[in-house]
Amino acid sequence: MTSSDHHKEAIQGLIQTGKYFFDRGWSLGTSSNYSVVLTHTPLTLLITGSGKDKGRLTDNDFVTINEHGQTIAPPGAKSSAETFLHIAGARAPLQTAGLAYTGTTQAPVGAILHTHSVWGAVLSDHFFETGYVPIQGFEMAKGLAGISTHTDLYKIPIFDNTQDIPKLASQVASRYSDPNIPVRHGYLIRGHGLYTWGKNLEEARRHVEIFEYLLEVTGRVLSLKGRLS
Ligand SMILES: [Zn+2]
Repeated sequence: MTSSDHHKEAIQGLIQTGKYFFDRGWSLGTSSNYSVVLTHTPLTLLITGSGKDKGRLTDNDFVTINEHGQTIAPPGAKSSAETFLHIAGARAPLQTAGLAYTGTTQAPVGAILHTHSVWGAVLSDHFFETGYVPIQGFEMAKGLAGISTHTDLYKIPIFDNTQDIPKLASQVASRYSDPNIPVRHGYLIRGHGLYTWGKNLEEARRHVEIFEYLLEVTGRVLSLKGRLS
């Protein structure tokens, strides 16, 4: 596939992703942002432009950026306000077969997706002091790459919401191999939403589906038990 084909395929894939996530209520209005890695070395990303309606993205709503978050094309276009979180995600150790990939120069992450769902906002706020949303006992956890059992406690890390995105990006990067609450397949920002990624757009979308399912089912169970009050 030529780089031009990859670019076109990435745009079409992200337009479809926006429609799908909007329909599910995970990316309402201009919230959320999505990116696909175009090249790993040097790192370049195709990312949604700032303030674009995610349910109605068009071919012209994307920006190509470099590893410093600077716009490569089109000239003067502004990428998402959370661009640095995508760059951090592109450098995340990819979870495969239960092992964290530790390569640094050749990041294997192919796509990074961010959603603003109701359950992501509710649970990231509710569990903020705990530091993570506890997920346990749900079969669907096995949809996360490298997870083979639903019985282990899985912790979705929560970071405080801030407008200082470069600072948050460095906090996330420092937690990739944290012994207590590691950032593995993704993380939540308090009262805000989810970031996740995958080896390609398909896997990143699956991770969004799995995380959003796990968040909703966890939230509904807690609601039934009266523990969210
Ligand atoms: Zn956001």
